[in-house]
Amino acid sequence: MKKFLSMMLVGIMALSLAACGGAGGAEQSTEAGGDSYVIATDTAFAPFEFTDENNEFVGIDIDLMNAIAEDQGFTVEWRSLGFDAAMAAVEAGQADGCIAGASITDKRKETYDFSDAYYDSYVCIAVAENSDIKGLEDLKGKKVAAKTGTMGADCAESLKDQYGFEIAYFDQSDMMYQDVVTGNTVACFEDQPVMAYNCKQGNGLKIIADQKDDYSTPYGFVVLKGQNKELLEKFNAGLKSLKDSGKYDEIVAKYTGSN
Ligand code: GLN
Repeated sequence: MKKFLSMMLVGIMALSLAACGGAGGAEQSTEAGGDSYVIATDTAFAPFEFTDENNEFVGIDIDLMNAIAEDQGFTVEWRSLGFDAAMAAVEAGQADGCIAGASITDKRKETYDFSDAYYDSYVCIAVAENSDIKGLEDLKGKKVAAKTGTMGADCAESLKDQYGFEIAYFDQSDMMYQDVVTGNTVACFEDQPVMAYNCKQGNGLKIIADQKDDYSTPYGFVVLKGQNKELLEKFNAGLKSLKDSGKYDEIVAKYTGSN
């Protein structure tokens, strides 16, 4: 019975992903005949992966991976799990790879192999639009929000004692923003390109500071260390070909209006 239930769940997940036409993974997997890979990703990390107003799961990471798959003749089965869960799925061998705006760090390189870098990023700090907080000095005795397992969380942890704040953890970026908007926490630590995009979309927050000097790290596609070398090579080859053809710039511009 348990097994039946979990099979049902997998079925439902596959169906709901297939329903999200934009991601394209599920539909693609029928034809090409090449290898098929399970790729884990985040849930709400716009403009890299998010559900758009037509209820389609889209974003730079999604389009990039689908275009690389097409270029290299493999198919993608998407799993939108959340960042920490997506990285854990790769570690547990439940996913072949993860593309989720994952920062390339030395610590992660102990567990994972990364592709060539595909997007530059750094950590910033944001507060509610109407907040008086102007910088880290104003966080003394306050509680801030961070997303579990991320570089933003690492950054918050490294500053916590010096500036005397506490940290509340969230699994999803949108929940974290909401917590700051409602005032339970007074600030959050997030990747700058993601926060800038979401501020522009009216998430009710504003960026007040950044940690560009210490927490600047590009994104890479992730596989388990020593595993799936072939997939990593295909990703790098596909990325190069998309950069050469202008398709990479096109994808970035589609979501950010620039590149
Ligand atoms: N770039 C950050 C990290 O790798 C956050 C990624 C994410 O939240 N999807 O830790």
